[in-house]
Amino acid sequence: MRKILCIGAHPDDCEASVGGAALLLRSRGDRVKFVSVTDGARGHFLPEYLENPSLLVERRRLESLEAARIGDFEWESLGIRDGEVYVDRESTEAMIRLIRRSSPDVVLCNRPCDYHRDHRYTAQLVLDASYMLTVPYLCPDVPALERMPIFAYWQDGFTEFGSFRPDASIAIDSVIETKCDLMLAHESQFLEWLPYNADPASYKAPLSREVVRPQLANRSRGTAQRYAELLPPGTQFAEAFQICEYGSVPTTQEFSEFFRIELGKSS
Ligand SMILES: [Zn+2]
Repeated sequence: MRKILCIGAHPDDCEASVGGAALLLRSRGDRVKFVSVTDGARGHFLPEYLENPSLLVERRRLESLEAARIGDFEWESLGIRDGEVYVDRESTEAMIRLIRRSSPDVVLCNRPCDYHRDHRYTAQLVLDASYMLTVPYLCPDVPALERMPIFAYWQDGFTEFGSFRPDASIAIDSVIETKCDLMLAHESQFLEWLPYNADPASYKAPLSREVVRPQLANRSRGTAQRYAELLPPGTQFAEAFQICEYGSVPTTQEFSEFFRIELGKSS
Protein backbone atom coordinates (compact mmCIF):
# COMPACT_ATOMS: atom_id res chain seq x y z
CA MET A 1 0.00 0.00 0.00
CA ARG A 2 1.43 3.32 -1.10
CA LYS A 3 0.07 6.79 -0.50
CA ILE A 4 -0.64 8.99 -3.52
CA LEU A 5 -1.25 12.70 -2.98
CA CYS A 6 -2.73 14.57 -5.95
CA ILE A 7 -2.70 18.37 -5.59
CA GLY A 8 -4.75 20.54 -7.92
CA ALA A 9 -5.60 24.22 -7.75
CA HIS A 10 -9.34 23.69 -8.25
CA PRO A 11 -11.88 21.11 -7.11
CA ASP A 12 -12.03 19.33 -10.51
CA ASP A 13 -8.35 19.46 -11.52
CA CYS A 14 -7.22 16.10 -10.09
CA GLU A 15 -10.21 14.23 -11.49
CA ALA A 16 -9.53 15.53 -15.01
CA SER A 17 -5.78 15.01 -14.95
CA VAL A 18 -5.05 11.91 -12.88
CA GLY A 19 -8.49 10.32 -12.41
CA GLY A 20 -7.61 7.20 -14.39
CA ALA A 21 -4.26 6.53 -12.72
CA ALA A 22 -5.80 7.26 -9.32
CA LEU A 23 -8.56 4.71 -9.90
CA LEU A 24 -6.06 2.08 -11.01
CA LEU A 25 -3.74 2.71 -8.08
CA ARG A 26 -6.67 2.64 -5.65
CA SER A 27 -7.87 -0.65 -7.15
CA ARG A 28 -4.58 -2.26 -6.21
CA GLY A 29 -4.88 -1.02 -2.64
CA ASP A 30 -3.00 2.27 -2.66
CA ARG A 31 -4.42 5.19 -0.69
CA VAL A 32 -5.32 8.19 -2.83
CA LYS A 33 -5.99 11.72 -1.66
CA PHE A 34 -7.19 14.54 -3.92
CA VAL A 35 -6.51 18.09 -2.77
CA SER A 36 -8.03 21.30 -4.05
CA VAL A 37 -5.91 24.27 -3.03
CA THR A 38 -8.78 26.69 -3.68
CA ASP A 39 -12.44 26.71 -2.74
CA GLY A 40 -13.73 27.01 -6.32
CA ALA A 41 -15.67 30.22 -5.60
CA ARG A 42 -14.96 31.83 -8.99
CA GLY A 43 -15.89 28.94 -11.27
CA HIS A 44 -19.34 30.01 -12.45
CA PHE A 45 -21.33 32.78 -14.09
CA LEU A 46 -24.72 32.85 -12.33
CA PRO A 47 -25.35 36.13 -10.44
CA GLU A 48 -26.46 34.26 -7.33
CA TYR A 49 -22.96 32.84 -6.93
CA LEU A 50 -21.42 36.30 -7.26
CA GLU A 51 -23.77 37.60 -4.58
CA ASN A 52 -23.27 34.61 -2.31
CA PRO A 53 -20.01 32.77 -3.11
CA SER A 54 -20.52 30.39 -0.20
CA LEU A 55 -23.31 28.74 -2.22
CA LEU A 56 -20.84 27.84 -4.97
CA VAL A 57 -18.14 26.86 -2.49
CA GLU A 58 -20.56 24.45 -0.83
CA ARG A 59 -21.79 23.08 -4.16
CA ARG A 60 -18.24 22.40 -5.27
CA ARG A 61 -17.34 20.83 -1.95
CA LEU A 62 -20.24 18.41 -2.34
CA GLU A 63 -19.23 17.67 -5.94
CA SER A 64 -15.70 16.89 -4.76
CA LEU A 65 -17.00 14.61 -2.03
CA GLU A 66 -19.16 12.80 -4.57
CA ALA A 67 -16.13 12.22 -6.80
CA ALA A 68 -14.17 11.04 -3.77
CA ARG A 69 -17.00 8.63 -2.93
CA ILE A 70 -17.01 7.24 -6.47
CA GLY A 71 -13.25 6.72 -6.45
CA ASP A 72 -12.97 5.74 -2.77
CA PHE A 73 -10.45 8.57 -2.38
CA GLU A 74 -9.80 10.96 0.48
CA TRP A 75 -10.34 14.65 -0.21
CA GLU A 76 -9.48 17.97 1.36
CA SER A 77 -9.20 21.62 0.41
CA LEU A 78 -6.78 24.26 1.62
CA GLY A 79 -9.69 26.68 1.23
CA ILE A 80 -7.76 29.49 -0.47
CA ARG A 81 -10.10 31.75 -2.45
CA ASP A 82 -10.39 30.67 -6.10
CA GLY A 83 -8.29 32.92 -8.34
CA GLU A 84 -6.19 34.14 -5.43
CA VAL A 85 -3.40 31.57 -5.04
CA TYR A 86 -0.24 33.44 -4.16
CA VAL A 87 3.21 32.16 -3.32
CA ASP A 88 3.51 33.69 0.11
CA ARG A 89 4.58 32.54 3.55
CA GLU A 90 1.12 31.52 4.74
CA SER A 91 0.30 29.40 1.68
CA THR A 92 3.77 27.85 1.53
CA GLU A 93 3.59 26.77 5.16
CA ALA A 94 0.05 25.45 4.63
CA MET A 95 1.37 23.33 1.76
CA ILE A 96 4.30 22.03 3.84
CA ARG A 97 1.91 21.00 6.62
CA LEU A 98 -0.54 19.40 4.19
CA ILE A 99 2.11 17.23 2.53
CA ARG A 100 3.72 16.28 5.85
CA ARG A 101 0.36 15.24 7.32
CA SER A 102 -0.32 13.08 4.27
CA SER A 103 3.23 11.55 4.31
CA PRO A 104 2.86 10.49 0.67
CA ASP A 105 5.05 8.21 -1.41
CA VAL A 106 4.23 10.20 -4.54
CA VAL A 107 2.92 13.74 -5.04
CA LEU A 108 1.27 14.54 -8.39
CA CYS A 109 0.56 18.08 -9.60
CA ASN A 110 0.51 20.18 -12.77
CA ARG A 111 3.68 21.67 -14.21
CA PRO A 112 4.58 25.22 -13.13
CA CYS A 113 4.04 26.42 -16.74
CA ASP A 114 0.32 25.52 -16.84
CA TYR A 115 -2.14 27.96 -18.38
CA HIS A 116 -3.98 29.15 -15.25
CA ARG A 117 -2.28 31.41 -12.72
CA ASP A 118 -3.74 29.36 -9.84
CA HIS A 119 -2.28 26.22 -11.44
CA ARG A 120 1.17 27.77 -11.85
CA TYR A 121 1.29 29.03 -8.28
CA THR A 122 -0.08 25.77 -6.89
CA ALA A 123 2.80 23.93 -8.58
CA GLN A 124 5.21 26.53 -7.23
CA LEU A 125 3.86 26.02 -3.71
CA VAL A 126 4.36 22.25 -4.05
CA LEU A 127 7.90 22.69 -5.38
CA ASP A 128 8.75 25.26 -2.71
CA ALA A 129 7.46 22.87 -0.03
CA SER A 130 9.50 19.94 -1.31
CA TYR A 131 12.90 20.48 0.32
CA MET A 132 11.32 21.89 3.48
CA LEU A 133 9.38 18.68 4.14
CA THR A 134 12.44 17.19 5.87
CA VAL A 135 13.54 20.37 7.67
CA PRO A 136 12.16 19.93 11.22
CA TYR A 137 12.71 23.49 12.44
CA LEU A 138 10.30 24.88 9.84
CA CYS A 139 6.64 24.37 10.82
CA PRO A 140 7.73 22.30 13.84
CA ASP A 141 4.08 21.73 14.86
CA VAL A 142 3.84 19.04 12.15
CA PRO A 143 6.69 16.49 12.26
CA ALA A 144 9.09 16.64 9.33
CA LEU A 145 9.13 13.72 6.91
CA GLU A 146 11.92 11.18 7.27
CA ARG A 147 11.68 10.14 3.65
CA MET A 148 11.26 12.52 0.73
CA PRO A 149 8.40 11.58 -1.62
CA ILE A 150 8.64 11.38 -5.39
CA PHE A 151 7.18 14.44 -7.12
CA ALA A 152 5.76 14.17 -10.62
CA TYR A 153 3.78 16.28 -13.06
CA TRP A 154 0.65 15.28 -14.91
CA GLN A 155 0.53 15.66 -18.67
CA ASP A 156 -0.19 18.91 -20.49
CA GLY A 157 0.32 20.24 -24.00
CA PHE A 158 2.12 23.48 -23.18
CA THR A 159 5.45 24.18 -24.89
CA GLU A 160 6.28 27.78 -23.95
CA PHE A 161 8.82 26.70 -21.30
CA GLY A 162 9.60 23.26 -22.69
CA SER A 163 7.44 20.31 -23.66
CA PHE A 164 6.08 17.70 -21.30
CA ARG A 165 8.22 14.55 -21.11
CA PRO A 166 6.25 11.28 -20.74
CA ASP A 167 8.38 9.32 -18.25
CA ALA A 168 5.43 7.03 -17.51
CA SER A 169 2.44 6.47 -19.78
CA ILE A 170 -0.49 4.52 -18.44
CA ALA A 171 -3.35 2.84 -20.29
CA ILE A 172 -6.60 3.69 -18.50
CA ASP A 173 -9.03 1.90 -20.85
CA SER A 174 -10.38 -0.29 -18.02
CA VAL A 175 -11.42 2.72 -15.92
CA ILE A 176 -12.27 5.36 -18.54
CA GLU A 177 -16.01 5.27 -17.77
CA THR A 178 -15.37 5.69 -14.05
CA LYS A 179 -12.92 8.50 -14.78
CA CYS A 180 -15.74 10.22 -16.68
CA ASP A 181 -18.00 9.63 -13.66
CA LEU A 182 -15.44 11.37 -11.44
CA MET A 183 -15.42 14.36 -13.75
CA LEU A 184 -19.20 14.41 -14.22
CA ALA A 185 -19.57 14.62 -10.43
CA HIS A 186 -18.44 18.22 -11.03
CA GLU A 187 -21.65 19.22 -12.82
CA SER A 188 -21.15 22.91 -12.05
CA GLN A 189 -18.00 22.80 -14.15
CA PHE A 190 -18.30 20.28 -16.97
CA LEU A 191 -22.01 20.85 -17.68
CA GLU A 192 -22.25 24.57 -16.87
CA TRP A 193 -19.22 26.79 -16.30
CA LEU A 194 -16.73 25.36 -18.80
CA PRO A 195 -19.21 25.25 -21.74
CA TYR A 196 -20.29 28.79 -20.84
CA ASN A 197 -16.72 30.03 -20.52
CA ALA A 198 -15.78 28.46 -23.87
CA ASP A 199 -18.56 30.28 -25.73
CA PRO A 200 -20.86 32.53 -23.64
CA ALA A 201 -22.82 33.71 -26.67
CA SER A 202 -24.04 30.26 -27.60
CA TYR A 203 -24.60 28.90 -24.08
CA LYS A 204 -28.31 28.37 -23.42
CA ALA A 205 -28.58 25.77 -20.67
CA PRO A 206 -26.51 23.12 -18.89
CA LEU A 207 -25.27 20.43 -21.25
CA SER A 208 -26.41 16.88 -20.72
CA ARG A 209 -24.13 14.22 -19.29
CA GLU A 210 -24.65 12.17 -22.47
CA VAL A 211 -23.26 15.00 -24.60
CA VAL A 212 -20.33 15.75 -22.32
CA ARG A 213 -19.19 12.21 -21.45
CA PRO A 214 -17.58 11.41 -24.83
CA GLN A 215 -15.92 14.84 -24.87
CA LEU A 216 -14.33 14.09 -21.50
CA ALA A 217 -13.19 10.65 -22.67
CA ASN A 218 -11.65 12.22 -25.76
CA ARG A 219 -9.18 14.12 -23.57
CA SER A 220 -7.64 10.81 -22.51
CA ARG A 221 -7.92 9.50 -26.07
CA GLY A 222 -5.73 12.39 -27.21
CA THR A 223 -3.06 11.40 -24.69
CA ALA A 224 -3.16 7.80 -25.91
CA GLN A 225 -2.73 8.94 -29.51
CA ARG A 226 0.10 11.30 -28.64
CA TYR A 227 2.10 8.64 -26.78
CA ALA A 228 0.91 5.57 -28.72
CA GLU A 229 4.44 4.23 -29.18
CA LEU A 230 4.92 4.14 -25.39
CA LEU A 231 1.68 2.26 -24.67
CA PRO A 232 0.46 -1.31 -25.23
CA PRO A 233 -0.87 -1.77 -28.79
CA GLY A 234 -4.53 -0.84 -29.08
CA THR A 235 -4.61 1.44 -26.05
CA GLN A 236 -7.42 3.97 -26.52
CA PHE A 237 -7.23 6.05 -23.34
CA ALA A 238 -4.15 7.11 -21.40
CA GLU A 239 -2.59 9.44 -18.87
CA ALA A 240 1.10 10.33 -18.66
CA PHE A 241 3.44 11.66 -15.99
CA GLN A 242 6.82 13.38 -15.86
CA ILE A 243 9.32 12.92 -13.03
CA CYS A 244 10.14 16.14 -11.19
CA GLU A 245 13.80 16.79 -10.39
CA TYR A 246 13.03 17.76 -6.80
CA GLY A 247 12.30 15.28 -4.00
CA SER A 248 13.21 11.62 -4.49
CA VAL A 249 14.08 11.01 -8.12
CA PRO A 250 13.37 7.50 -9.42
CA THR A 251 14.73 6.06 -12.66
CA THR A 252 12.17 6.06 -15.45
CA GLN A 253 11.97 2.28 -15.07
CA GLU A 254 11.24 2.55 -11.34
CA PHE A 255 8.70 5.26 -12.07
CA SER A 256 6.88 3.15 -14.66
CA GLU A 257 6.94 0.19 -12.24
CA PHE A 258 5.19 2.37 -9.69
CA PHE A 259 2.19 2.71 -11.98
CA ARG A 260 2.16 -0.91 -13.15
CA ILE A 261 -1.18 -2.51 -12.44
CA GLU A 262 -1.35 -6.29 -12.54
CA LEU A 263 -3.91 -7.54 -15.03
CA GLY A 264 -7.06 -8.73 -13.34
CA LYS A 265 -6.61 -6.45 -10.35
CA SER A 266 -7.80 -3.30 -12.07
CA SER A 267 -11.53 -2.75 -12.25
ZN1 LIG B 1 -8.00 24.28 -12.45
